Amino acid sequence: MAERYDVVVIGAGPGGYVTAIRAAQLGMRAGCIDARTSLGGTCLNIGCIPSKALLQSSEKFAEARHRLAEHGITTGEVGLDLALMMARKDKVVTTLTRGVEFLFRKNKVDWQKGKARIAAPGQIMVANGDHEMVIEAGAIVIATGSESIPLPGLPIDERRIVSSTGALALHRVPERLAVIGGGYIGLELGSVWSRLGARVTVIEYLDRILPNMDRELGPALQRVLTRSGIAFKLATRVLSGSLGNDAVTLELEPAAAGEHEMLAADIVLVAIGRRPFTDGLGLDEVGIARDAAGRVVVGDGFATNVAGIYAIGDVIRGPMLAHKAMDEGVALAEILAGQQTRVEYDAIPSVVYTWPEVAAVGRTEEELRAAGVDYRTGKFPFTATPRARTNGDTDGFVKVLAERASDRVLGVHIIGPDAGTMIAEAALAIEFGASAEDIARTATPTRP
Ligand code: FAD
Repeated sequence: MAERYDVVVIGAGPGGYVTAIRAAQLGMRAGCIDARTSLGGTCLNIGCIPSKALLQSSEKFAEARHRLAEHGITTGEVGLDLALMMARKDKVVTTLTRGVEFLFRKNKVDWQKGKARIAAPGQIMVANGDHEMVIEAGAIVIATGSESIPLPGLPIDERRIVSSTGALALHRVPERLAVIGGGYIGLELGSVWSRLGARVTVIEYLDRILPNMDRELGPALQRVLTRSGIAFKLATRVLSGSLGNDAVTLELEPAAAGEHEMLAADIVLVAIGRRPFTDGLGLDEVGIARDAAGRVVVGDGFATNVAGIYAIGDVIRGPMLAHKAMDEGVALAEILAGQQTRVEYDAIPSVVYTWPEVAAVGRTEEELRAAGVDYRTGKFPFTATPRARTNGDTDGFVKVLAERASDRVLGVHIIGPDAGTMIAEAALAIEFGASAEDIARTATPTRP
């Protein structure tokens, strides 16, 4: 007899596990299938959580080495126990993935282990080793996430040519690390290894890092990271790579063509972006539409073109972010329960956890200009903030974009200390339709 559920979610990442739990809370019988041996998907196992754990540890190391002295704090020689740092990161991951297991038990969500394939609307085959089972579902939710995009000619071996997964688990600090891609994953992991002592070079095809964010943020972050020792090669294309005995040699070319240059590194991190993951899901057989980028196409209420099959998270359009996937998961479960709900995409913040952090919510200045919106800009540097001065973290600024006629906040872009925490206030402002004046008139303890 096949197991039967009201809702079955394929993928137990932030999108999938949240959908399953919310559906169960709303009275549906929910199951969640994942091919991994632990819950939490990319984010908890090989993404947000391990990267943030290493960013935190490496930041403490860098601070102890370079920045405590100015506060009058002297230490002996600061040492690095990388194995212990990695063990701490693994423990954080295990604690959190077990936390999702606990939530599944508490909310009576069945965790089905194995690789899922949609055999027909309402029917899923789950393969686990030699064992295959059939699951029937009133609604099927595709939450299979994303994977790193490979670079032709540079096959990932997760030893010397690594994706983010390998870069989160290196056994020793490389002397030279080349990072291909100046997006947030490359910059965060480049920062980790640079702080731990690697000579890091970031190679970016476009003429600025963080190309998807407001134009002023990338160059501002680049200045600070350059000061901290990271080198940048912008407007540069990686043509090929060759594995030698003691180095990987990359052949580089200016994006606008010109003289080739060679760059040798001990480890190369390929971080040129992520793409939706739908391998082996049987989407073509069932006739589920995807766009040119391979994303599952969804309409209102996250419905695909096949009745009873829905999709959320990295596998559909929109920013590939854990909290976006979670918001969609909650909304979808509520829709399946017959409730009215929505996701406010303009209020979904994004954060780059470098130091200083970079965070944004709403529209960029370029987007407003392209859309012909009449807006005003307010910008304030951290150098003029007493709190930032006392803390010794004066790099960066806050930039607020507001509609000229209504003063409604349309976008907030921050580079600076704790930008990732502060952006939550801006997200709230956008969610509530606040004006720039509302923010200005809000008393804040951080502005003596
Ligand atoms: P995923 O988390 O990718 O989960 C999909 C799951 O589906 C996987 O566990 C996979 O095993 C499973 N699966 C796939 N196919 C099948 C199948 N056929 N059968 C069974 N199971 C299947 N986002 C942030 O918001 N903040 C961050 O700081 C952040 N940092 C990141 C750092 C790194 C290094 C990386 C790689 C990503 C980071 N992200 C971050 C992005 C975040 O991880 C993703 O946006 C998020 O995980 C997407 O969630 P999801 O539920 O859509 O899919």
